[in-house]
Amino acid sequence: MAAQRVAEVVKGTKQTSRVRVAVRLRPYMHKQDEKGEGACVRRLDTETLEIINWRNATETLQYQFDVFHSEETTQQEVFLSSVKPILPHILKGQNASVFAYGPTGAGKTHTMLGSQEQPGVIPRAVRGVFNLVKAKEREDEGWDYSIGMSYLEIYNEKVLDLLSPSAQDLPIREDKDRNILIPGLTHTPLSSFSDFHFHFIPASLNRTTASTKLNQRSSRSHAILLIKVVRTQRNPPHRQQTGKLYLVDLAGSEDNRRTGNKGIRLKESGAINLSLFTLSKVVDSLNVAGGGRVPYRDSKLTRLLQDSLGGSAHSVMITNIAPEYTYYFETFTALNFAAKSKQIVNKPFVRETVTMPSVQVKRSREEQEAGRSGEPQKKKLKNVKKTDQEEPAQLHSPTDPSILNRLMALEKLLMGTPVKERLNMHREIQELKEKQKEFESKAKVLKVAGNGASHNSSDSGSSGDSPLFRTYLPPLHRKQSTAAKPKKQQAVVLPLQVSQLQPLQQCPVVKKPSVCFKKNLEQSEVPEGKENVKDAGWESHLDKSVLDQSRHKILQVLNSGSLKDLKGLQQIGDKKAKLILGWREIQGAFTQLEDLTKIEGITAKRLSSFIKANILSMMGK
Ligand code: ADP
Ligand code: MG
Repeated sequence: MAAQRVAEVVKGTKQTSRVRVAVRLRPYMHKQDEKGEGACVRRLDTETLEIINWRNATETLQYQFDVFHSEETTQQEVFLSSVKPILPHILKGQNASVFAYGPTGAGKTHTMLGSQEQPGVIPRAVRGVFNLVKAKEREDEGWDYSIGMSYLEIYNEKVLDLLSPSAQDLPIREDKDRNILIPGLTHTPLSSFSDFHFHFIPASLNRTTASTKLNQRSSRSHAILLIKVVRTQRNPPHRQQTGKLYLVDLAGSEDNRRTGNKGIRLKESGAINLSLFTLSKVVDSLNVAGGGRVPYRDSKLTRLLQDSLGGSAHSVMITNIAPEYTYYFETFTALNFAAKSKQIVNKPFVRETVTMPSVQVKRSREEQEAGRSGEPQKKKLKNVKKTDQEEPAQLHSPTDPSILNRLMALEKLLMGTPVKERLNMHREIQELKEKQKEFESKAKVLKVAGNGASHNSSDSGSSGDSPLFRTYLPPLHRKQSTAAKPKKQQAVVLPLQVSQLQPLQQCPVVKKPSVCFKKNLEQSEVPEGKENVKDAGWESHLDKSVLDQSRHKILQVLNSGSLKDLKGLQQIGDKKAKLILGWREIQGAFTQLEDLTKIEGITAKRLSSFIKANILSMMGK
């Protein structure tokens, strides 16, 4: 083809645009709330929402986004505010992407596709593009326009063509102009909106009939509709510009372990999570000033979206959330993803940090009672608003300790700090440990004074509130559940887990006297990708308690170590370390070393070689 794509971006202005983040709360559904507990999230205004604090029922956490769409928001309103404004760019050779993020059941498909009665973003955007093109043709500025579509799915890190289902795992390439393309992907020209309908509906069915368990598959794959607008100058030099619009219904962001997935499906979710995890990193890097390298190439999804996310592209992420308690963990995770991706841009956050000291003071006592410390994420966690009633600090989260652990790990990792700072975790952990000690000794003093019920931090909670978050709504309370009461104060000892981490090198290792291990160690340091087959039996020489201790330490690093710590482990390079971080952020803590095999590329053999090398390495120290 003679014509080349000419980008309309002015050369030299290599400005990277950030991703706008909207959050949409779907209406409360009784059937999702068997215990009749009501909603745990609600609207404050058009940019803010609040969610009950899982740590303490008397508090709520408030978040701010570019836009917050509450449950009453119509499909039309979502389209008008988040999508319509970006459409004109497609006609000028620029790219754009709109994606729906969030857990399964929170409204992604409703937002993107909708129903016949309530059409979503996809039909509205396609109609919008046709209308804009028609208007341009009427104005007749000397350009001819053509519109076409492709429709694909990324499932298990494979690219599948939904317009030609027999095509399997298509490659993603970049041309010399840095346009991303998929050779062999069907591209169907469209002459009208009804033409689009004609091709899109059966293709959507392809998506589901390709699988026996359709719901599971559709919630684990990314469905990507591409609308391409090509405009060509009628007269010489016949310039041609291509604008791409990606409309993406992402895979569910839920933690698949909670839905009881096993075996192959876990592997699938691992792969999906790699894409979702990478997407979060990409959004993070784009939205944080000086966010560093954007890791587009780390997953299929972000590689495909590379020329339509960031750069001169216009991108919107609509994070869908559900209000019921059943979704609490997923909502919390999704909000942190969404909030994180706009933290720097949002100036009002500054105000909230100003009000922090007073809140912190009030919190500190509860925190010490709960045996926890002031984590750095508070600055993004927004103001923590207290109700007037004084209730004992009550754990308000699921009673499952593993979920609690993960909530804490998430708070730390997702909300804590931008990537770079996360690497400073060690120092932070040391500080946490200090504080922990301090709290413990203070708690002892309190106990000695017989002052167990010292919840007298009764100064009015609202006085110090940022005006930004002032609300006259009655406090958000969980309704009395008919189910068993949550156990009180389960979190008391848990925060210790966060603070228990020590850098591997500093861990006191019980040395085994046997000197010859050092030698074995050198032999056992297998380069990544090569397994040591003769692993069997090596453990039998070692004391079981030493082995257990070492395994426990490795597990600690896996669960709380920074990227650097992970790379400090034997046989873990940059890629594996990132995969581990990704798994951990999305799936939560590893319960045992064997969980590592759920990560792509870590076979059982590699695992045993990894365990051996690390245990021996620790003993060699
Ligand atoms: P997801 O695609 O994220 O799994 P769905 O879009 O399938 O979620 O939504 C789950 C259910 O909730 C569907 O029955 C859907 O119609 C309904 N729903 C989602 N969002 C809304 C909304 N904003 N208004 C009304 N119903 C909604
Ligand atoms: Mg869906």
